[in-house]
Amino acid sequence: MTQMHRQSLTAYGASLCETVVEAPQPRGSEVLLRIARCGVCHSDLHMQDGYFKLGADKNLDVRGGRTLPFTLGHEIAGTVERAGPEAAGAAIGSHVAVYPWIGCGTCAACVAGEENICAAPRHLGITVDGGFASHVLVPHPRYLLDYAPLPAALAGAFMCSGLTAYAALKRLSAQAARGPLLLVGLGGVGMMGLSLARAMFAHAPVVTDIDAAKREAALKAGAAAAYDPADTSARKALLAATGGVYGACDFVGSDQSLAFATGVLVKGGKVVVTGLLGGTFSTPIAMIPLKAMTIEGTMTGTLAEAREMLALARTGIVSAIPFSERPLSQAQAALDDLRAGRVVGRLVLNCEENG
Ligand SMILES: [Zn+2]
Ligand SMILES: [Zn+2]
Repeated sequence: MTQMHRQSLTAYGASLCETVVEAPQPRGSEVLLRIARCGVCHSDLHMQDGYFKLGADKNLDVRGGRTLPFTLGHEIAGTVERAGPEAAGAAIGSHVAVYPWIGCGTCAACVAGEENICAAPRHLGITVDGGFASHVLVPHPRYLLDYAPLPAALAGAFMCSGLTAYAALKRLSAQAARGPLLLVGLGGVGMMGLSLARAMFAHAPVVTDIDAAKREAALKAGAAAAYDPADTSARKALLAATGGVYGACDFVGSDQSLAFATGVLVKGGKVVVTGLLGGTFSTPIAMIPLKAMTIEGTMTGTLAEAREMLALARTGIVSAIPFSERPLSQAQAALDDLRAGRVVGRLVLNCEENG
């Protein structure tokens, strides 16, 4: 019998606390992983709160669809410990990252390979117990991805921020062939997006961020130009330098960021929004046909995209992201630090250490 230690959500808005249960026995195609590392993500804060802020004092309730106590954490890397009788290909002892955006497998989206937008999702750490624990049960070995030589601490993050950036960029492949993309916002996803865009496309992207240090870092990482969107002349300067862009990623998701991105599009342009900061957006409807404009949203990415993105990252093309580690037992302190903005780079739980 193996004990499974978890840092559990027992009530929304309350601190996580340790719960100990017997590790589940994998059945059928299931695989039991011993977790090495699990990244701590901003969306974990929203799950703990039980809502997302939509802007203008509106909240999106996200308390439905899971039973408490619940284990958060969707950025998981670990070692295969046990496998069910039908879990072909799950090699005991292998080190793997977990694709967490698992769907029902039968709806139209899942059949099309888009499990991340399944109507009845089984997303790990969102609707099904996730990685703030010593172990996690994965329904099928196809969700396990080799990540060597990347560090385990980052392998999980690639399944969230890396995948989000990759899926957004892929939706802009046609636009990127016509000229440089615009990347709005240089947080974790944006910086990963910059690295991936340099690897995927011929033209180096232009970037914007209100933080001068982030703009500097982006220029060092190969951005063609960097603008401060708070500067009222930035839009004109960008238009003068580029003539406008065919494609933009909004990694922020605020009134200002989406207004900026759509404001510099040429005809036939497209903005992909991944950011969730919150706000509302309005534009004269006639501008949509007149500019033949597309605004598209994307949420993480598909299993196929995860494999493509990880294959790229494993070549060493994506710049290393700074990260710091905490033992699993300090999961709540880690969430508190993230909420207070005290974290530089990624914060990762070491789930092998429970002291
Ligand atoms: Zn995440
Ligand atoms: Zn489905």
